[in-house]
Amino acid sequence: MKTIIEPFRIKVVEPIGKTTLEQRRELLAEAAWNPFRLHADHILIDLLTDSGTGAMSSEQWAGIMRGDETYAGARSYWRFKAAVQDIFGHEEVIPTHQGRAAENLICSAIVKAGQIVPGNTHFDTTRANIEMSGARALDIPIPEARDPESLHPFKGNIDLLRLEALLEEEGAANVPFVLITITNNSGGGQPVSMENVRGARAVCDRFGVPLMLDAARFAENAMFIKLREEGFADRTPKSIAQELFSLVDGAMMSMKKDAFGNNGGVITLRSPEVAAEVRRLLILTEGFPTYGGLAGRDLDALAIGVQEILDEDYLEYRLASTRYVEERLDAAGIPVMKPCGGHAVYVDGRGFCSHLPNEQLPGWSLSVALYEHAGIRTCEIGNVMFGRKENDGSWTWPALDLVRLAIPRRVYTQSHMDYVIEALIELFAKREEIPGLRFTDRPAVLPHFTARFEPVPVEVNA
Ligand SMILES: *Cc1c(COP(=O)(O)O)cnc(C)c1O
Repeated sequence: MKTIIEPFRIKVVEPIGKTTLEQRRELLAEAAWNPFRLHADHILIDLLTDSGTGAMSSEQWAGIMRGDETYAGARSYWRFKAAVQDIFGHEEVIPTHQGRAAENLICSAIVKAGQIVPGNTHFDTTRANIEMSGARALDIPIPEARDPESLHPFKGNIDLLRLEALLEEEGAANVPFVLITITNNSGGGQPVSMENVRGARAVCDRFGVPLMLDAARFAENAMFIKLREEGFADRTPKSIAQELFSLVDGAMMSMKKDAFGNNGGVITLRSPEVAAEVRRLLILTEGFPTYGGLAGRDLDALAIGVQEILDEDYLEYRLASTRYVEERLDAAGIPVMKPCGGHAVYVDGRGFCSHLPNEQLPGWSLSVALYEHAGIRTCEIGNVMFGRKENDGSWTWPALDLVRLAIPRRVYTQSHMDYVIEALIELFAKREEIPGLRFTDRPAVLPHFTARFEPVPVEVNA
């Protein structure tokens, strides 16, 4: 059989919110044209994020019941630690309430002002945490990463030559660690090859710099390695993941992604000294080190999810279901990032809204138009998220202005996705009517979450 089916059936259902076009226009104005400000009741299909939005399995729900709420040393923690350690292999396992808490703790513990943290492409909260420590978050992906047309199989890779040159210049003292994000979320959900992580390990070893993974989507990355990298076809995703983690000194993970969690994160480390400093800080902000801001039942759900996600049938279906959307949009002539990433389809905002200049935020305008047209919520990863206003008032725009259709895990069916595809194709046919937007209020840190916008009057366009 050629058809790849969902390797599960539905046990619990939840209604989704239907609205009219007129209502959506009003709702957008009320939300200051920021989809983050919308009410869940008014969203038909929510592709804002794959973070914490997955459906848990019956086993995970059973784990919720088994959860042990002992304050210190709960059974849930030991089960969590064993499940994580089985994959990550590192001695120290520290739960946190989500990924950014893990980033904040690591940055507070080991990043100093003036330092540089290089990576393939830092995620937005990672960048913000590094910069809050006074350090610089430097993205050095391979050149193909910036080319939406490139079919490189591992577009998430870090540029090893640039990494080497940087470490040569800066030395270990100025680089607290190198961070590779798997898969490369901000770069289009693109995977990183085993060879690239091995290469980064060798470079880091030469200069005595630690190597860390941001492992939010480690299972999808492992499956890509199995499918695309020579020598891995016969390996299980789990053994590939284990090998990836064996190459690094530690990892941070948002367990809201590849652990099927609705909340949670983790730090793993080889160094007991760094772990001790992280735990010291964690007690101030997250809670006791055996629960890290989570309930015992969350730890049990995560312990089960982090193993369950490595199921090969699931991962095959997962990558196929994302590719299904990408291939149909591509066939309709809609500019999408290629090849297809794991958790999301990325539409090129500047290509879709080629009538809008960068100042009118083409990607953001597209995501707003898609909500207005069909009640679908997506997330811009581009000019609003990463645009920088310089001191002289001019703007520096990121290399790519993308709209991410993030696909929650085990949540939507193929007909939901067919609706999304149809909506985008309809919108593409009248793309020149999509109005541009501009900021009316732009917070300095993580602007996309709370910024306010207004449509740019059409006269300005003419
Ligand atoms: C989601 C994510 C984070 C942050 O995790 P949260 O759980 O949302 O705080 C960090 N890095 C990557 C790559 C992510 O996808």
